[in-house]
Amino acid sequence: MIQTKGYAVHDTSAKFEPFDFERRDVGPRDILIDIQYAGICHSDIHQAKGEWGNSTYPMVPGHEIVGNVTKVGNAVTKFKVGDIAGIGCFVDSCRECVNCKAGHEQACKVHCCWTYNGTEMDETTMTFGGYSSNYVIDEAYALKVDPTQDLKAVAPLLCAGITTYSPLRRFKVGPGSKVGIVGLGGLGHMGVKLAVSMGAAVTVFSTSPSKEADAKALGAQHFVVSRDADAMAAVAGTLDFILDTVSADHDVNAYLNLLGWEGTMVLVGLPTAPMPISAFSLIFGNHGLAGSGIGGIPETQEMLDYCAEHNITSDIELITPDQIETAYDRTVKSDVRYRFVIDMQNA
Ligand SMILES: [Zn+2]
Ligand SMILES: [Zn+2]
Repeated sequence: MIQTKGYAVHDTSAKFEPFDFERRDVGPRDILIDIQYAGICHSDIHQAKGEWGNSTYPMVPGHEIVGNVTKVGNAVTKFKVGDIAGIGCFVDSCRECVNCKAGHEQACKVHCCWTYNGTEMDETTMTFGGYSSNYVIDEAYALKVDPTQDLKAVAPLLCAGITTYSPLRRFKVGPGSKVGIVGLGGLGHMGVKLAVSMGAAVTVFSTSPSKEADAKALGAQHFVVSRDADAMAAVAGTLDFILDTVSADHDVNAYLNLLGWEGTMVLVGLPTAPMPISAFSLIFGNHGLAGSGIGGIPETQEMLDYCAEHNITSDIELITPDQIETAYDRTVKSDVRYRFVIDMQNA
């Protein structure tokens, strides 16, 4: 077994403590990754605090992971020692169901092994995430990372990056597309960067007027304070695509009305309460409303390669492990530009 040092929470109070545990030995198809950086995703906070009702403790969160490959199994072909590898939201799946075969392993019909707060394919062995010193993973579920990029700013791409990239690709955002991004947080700021890089004209919608300068600096052409009814009315019926990244309860009909003919709005935030949808908001204008959840391994690799080619990373604040709880509090208050990343090298 491989000795691992991590940071775990033991109940919904979400107090982090050093936690020693073991990972499996490196099998023929496994690689061992010495973790350098782990991003803090808002879903880490929900799960650490037990807010989704699916939490198992002890829990070592973290599914935005970048590190050095320090050992490879004898059947490994994709990685060699010294490469940089990434791990996203899941680390294994059945590989045989219709979704796995199509490269949508996150929707495996048998068992998706979440990177933490999940179980391995035996559905018994707990998985522990990236707030730790290392990870053992089958090479088929690890991602190749360009070593010349700023690795601490690459880590959030493994969740926030793919979550926003996948729907932009699915709905064919490209040159000339008129795109709205609702919310300018960890997801929203990646949505702006990616949509701008694809040639879209981006409008950012936020409740905070103070975010206008940041939105413009990220490449957005327009900024609308969503509480300003006149400003919202001025863009009604003009957008081809809207990416809604907000996890707080909000009125989606107000945004559906901003779509032009056959425009689509995609939800990637996770408000917990069901939301009322007016049929009028969908029917007039032939609008679509869809959801999107992370991405499979092939598309996640495509996203990382795209970001390397276009020099796209996340805007981050680097912290040390003793600052995780403070970072959680600040993330809940949206007081982060735009992702906390934990430096695991000096842990
Ligand atoms: Zn995440
Ligand atoms: Zn499957």
